[in-house]
Amino acid sequence: MNEFLERANELKDELIENRRYLHQHPEIRDDLPITAGFVKEKLKEMGIEPVEISKCGIVGLIGEKKEGKTVLLRADMDGLDMTEESGLPFSSKTPYAHCCGHDLHTAMLLGAAKMLKEREDELKGTVKLMFQPGEEYFIGSKAMIEAGVLENPKVDVAVDMHMNAKNPVGTVAICKGYTCASCDGMKLTVKGKGCHGAWPHNGIDPINVAAHTYLSLQELIARETPPELMATLTFGQFAGGTSANIIPEQVIMQGTMRTFDKDLRAKLKKRVHEVVEYSAKTFGAETEYEVLSDVPSLVTDPELLDIMNEYVKDLDVEFIPYPPSSASDDFARITELVPSVFYSIGCKPYGDVPLYPAHNPKIIFNEDALPIGAAIHAQCALNYLKNH
Ligand SMILES: [Zn+2]
Ligand SMILES: [Zn+2]
Repeated sequence: MNEFLERANELKDELIENRRYLHQHPEIRDDLPITAGFVKEKLKEMGIEPVEISKCGIVGLIGEKKEGKTVLLRADMDGLDMTEESGLPFSSKTPYAHCCGHDLHTAMLLGAAKMLKEREDELKGTVKLMFQPGEEYFIGSKAMIEAGVLENPKVDVAVDMHMNAKNPVGTVAICKGYTCASCDGMKLTVKGKGCHGAWPHNGIDPINVAAHTYLSLQELIARETPPELMATLTFGQFAGGTSANIIPEQVIMQGTMRTFDKDLRAKLKKRVHEVVEYSAKTFGAETEYEVLSDVPSLVTDPELLDIMNEYVKDLDVEFIPYPPSSASDDFARITELVPSVFYSIGCKPYGDVPLYPAHNPKIIFNEDALPIGAAIHAQCALNYLKNH
């Protein structure tokens, strides 16, 4: 059996214990004192010096005294602002929940760190561990990049993984090129002029302006997006007014636009701004545009993926080619800057445990995937450094 997988299986109880501790203590955004504290403590126990380079953004180095390349292994650590309903005996003890599996990501990377530290002598370069906060709000990787996570030592390639509860344990979904969509989140405040509903000419009706803005924006998808390219525009909030006979002062619209293609994204972003501005002007109103998120699409480097897949072949995992996902992950910012690989780790529960999608309060992840993820991280790092 593959040595890392064998060792990871020996460490399985520890991986599960770490995962369950994190699962019981979810925190959100970049405010992860318990989680970050736990990770730092575990790294110290392994003899790895944790460095907090941004708020709750932790870096650890293994084999850093050597010449050679640097491989970055990334795990996100944050939970979601929701209440867990899994019914598990180790359910969340905080108002938040780990329903995206970031607790497993963190536990797998801690497992890989331990195994790589044990074999530090064999490393022909440096492994840089990146424990990232704030993925769900797309703020964590940006903060860590600005704080220099890709420098000193300079990162050559990066590996990241995400749990996938739709696929069975032992499978790894892979995608070449565009892997996850970009996400441009926006808050539009349409500012009109309130008045009595009986005399609409005395005011500027922001509901009318917002309705026109909404429909025109959707035409960007229907009429300006090439049929062979994917783009979605969703407004999850459209709010204004309090009463039947009062024209309100303003309407709030919040939404996200997602696509894969970089050029299309740039074009659509420009057109969104134009439509928002001109729709408002048409009716003598004004619309304020606030950026809520601006994550690029996540790109898996096809050549690096082939190389890494070769390294992890003897872990007996089954690779499943997958179409790109319209979900987003701020690991994308790393993939913009260094060649990267993104693995989707199968962790479907066994038997008749009901299946739920990520971000569902009832989702259950199969912990048997933990040793596999840890072994993949470790194997990719060790072999890449040996061969480059
Ligand atoms: Zn998520
Ligand atoms: Zn996630």
